[in-house]
Amino acid sequence: MTKGLRWGRTWIALAVLAALVLPVCTGCSQKETKMETSIFAMDTVMNLTFYGDDPEAALKGVQEELVEEIYSLENKLSTTKEESELYELNEQGQASLSPETAELLTKALELCETTQGALDITAYPAVRAWGFTTGAYRVPDQAELEQLAAGIDYTKLEVDTEEGTARIPQGMAVDLGAVTKGYAGDRLAQQLEQAGITSALLDLGQSTIRVMGSKPDGSPWRIAVQDPAGEGYLGVIELTDLAVGTSGGYQRFFEQDGETYWHILDPDTAAPARSGLSSVTVVGPSGLVCDGLSTALFVMGLEEGAQFWRDHPELEVELLFVTDDGTIYVTPGMEAKFSLAQGYEDREVQVLK
Ligand code: AMP
Ligand code: MG
Repeated sequence: MTKGLRWGRTWIALAVLAALVLPVCTGCSQKETKMETSIFAMDTVMNLTFYGDDPEAALKGVQEELVEEIYSLENKLSTTKEESELYELNEQGQASLSPETAELLTKALELCETTQGALDITAYPAVRAWGFTTGAYRVPDQAELEQLAAGIDYTKLEVDTEEGTARIPQGMAVDLGAVTKGYAGDRLAQQLEQAGITSALLDLGQSTIRVMGSKPDGSPWRIAVQDPAGEGYLGVIELTDLAVGTSGGYQRFFEQDGETYWHILDPDTAAPARSGLSSVTVVGPSGLVCDGLSTALFVMGLEEGAQFWRDHPELEVELLFVTDDGTIYVTPGMEAKFSLAQGYEDREVQVLK
């Protein structure tokens, strides 16, 4: 056999081998199916995305269960749906609770306590008086505000998890709007985990987000932080396996006589919290904590909020504050995850110690 023929056979063998191997490798990178759905629930648009390598019919089943869970939570926790457990509690002064509502009420009360009442889930009569539940906005006068503020007191809400009941004094009412979406994200992530899903981006609306794992290509999820003073986003947070909650006056507000009034109220005054902040973003392992804390820290303001963070390392949260003058303050763990967007490179970013 000549040398030329031997080489020729070798090349043919290599070409056949490559033909066998290449399609398999192309398949490796394409095995994840993307599942995506948008729903309107809890007064906002939610976008749920996850990736899986099970047959599409099985993934569709998982997706349907997520959507069912959201609607089921909404039906239990809405303050405006007459058949909800919260509606019954607010109307009757007592209600029987499903395990989910009992769990959320208990955890929300713990957070009210930890934040020393900056988060107060009994602020509902004040939220209602300003018209934030119906859109029929009005500015209550000082006497009404004082009366409303005197009625905000989460310590008067009693929850019995063993019996599955809750009680609240007459005239008081509960609103879980500050924590429900974060809690929903935690529940959906548990559901996905049980289904063996390891890569997901759950956008529960109004900047309440939960990511699982990383993107299918292995890179972290990139979450935009809205510019509270504009239309665009001022930066990006890179995350794997964490929750994000942002609260800001720009998310829901009305204007009257040149004043802007927003939906986050200071429980001490029953009026919109004016702490010098435009927005607060919280990143951490618990969606419920991130959601509840972003609301509470917005009430506290920068100084008190930063001190709260120093005093509570057990919560494992990282923070990003935007003050009314546009300055950004981040905790060191947030600095590592955050980068300014194009057009915002000149923005001052201070690192909190
Ligand atoms: P978030 O958008 O998560 O900051 O939550 C704001 C919502 O929580 C409002 O729309 C109210 O329903 C309710 N809320 C407003 N102020 C407070 C407060 N200080 N504590 C608890 N809930 C509040
Ligand atoms: Mg919140």
